[in-house]
Amino acid sequence: MSQAAKNLSPSTPIVVLLGGPGSGKGTHGQALAAALDYQHLSSGEHFRDHIRRLTPLGRRAAEFIEGGQLVPDDVTIDLVRAMLGGCPDASGFVLDGYPRSLAQAEALEQVASAFGCVVTRALYLDVSDDEIVRRLSGRLTCRGCGRTCHETSKPPARPGVCDACGGELFRRTDDEPATIRQRIAVFHRMIDPLRDFYRATGRLMEVAAEGPVQEVSARVIAKAKSSVAQ
Ligand code: AMP
Repeated sequence: MSQAAKNLSPSTPIVVLLGGPGSGKGTHGQALAAALDYQHLSSGEHFRDHIRRLTPLGRRAAEFIEGGQLVPDDVTIDLVRAMLGGCPDASGFVLDGYPRSLAQAEALEQVASAFGCVVTRALYLDVSDDEIVRRLSGRLTCRGCGRTCHETSKPPARPGVCDACGGELFRRTDDEPATIRQRIAVFHRMIDPLRDFYRATGRLMEVAAEGPVQEVSARVIAKAKSSVAQ
């Protein structure tokens, strides 16, 4: 085990966020991490960062991400090891975008324990397919800080410019309409076994995730806190 991993306490909690593309895992994950003082780790953001930096991991992931496919489990598990190992002092983690398959959830149990962590809760963000399409087809992402906004429902003050950091806004290649449909199909294939896995081990909580952002974040935080307090 790395020196970094040894610094984590024996049962550092991990809350995983499950949900379709555009269900708000990033937005609510950040709010939840801030409320609990945990580290927010987004697998998608970390992959995009590896792709930008042309790392070996980024090269292995790029073609899958651009085609709206899941990155193979072995590549993804390597990413999770790197993410957990990169935050030795975290008091807990909000894992956003991982796991996305039963195999990943099972692998996470081992990887978490090797890093002195334990998955305490899986929060499922429940959003309809119609709403996912609406959200993703207008979504703009900042090249600088990774925050998102929406062309019509949450437009930036200045077109093309991130309100948070002034960075350039762009449309992710996997937010194009054909790729969105592909991602939703992939999501439906994978989600049931994943929810069953966490339900069977008493860790699944479902959150109605449509409606005003702050209200949904508050629901997510309340659910997660009720579990953390156990
Ligand atoms: P996201 O930003 O969470 O929507 O992720 C963007 C893309 O990264 C996904 O469409 C997948 O191609 C890839 N990805 C992120 N997390 C995972 C994962 N846990 N397993 C497989 N692929 C992933």
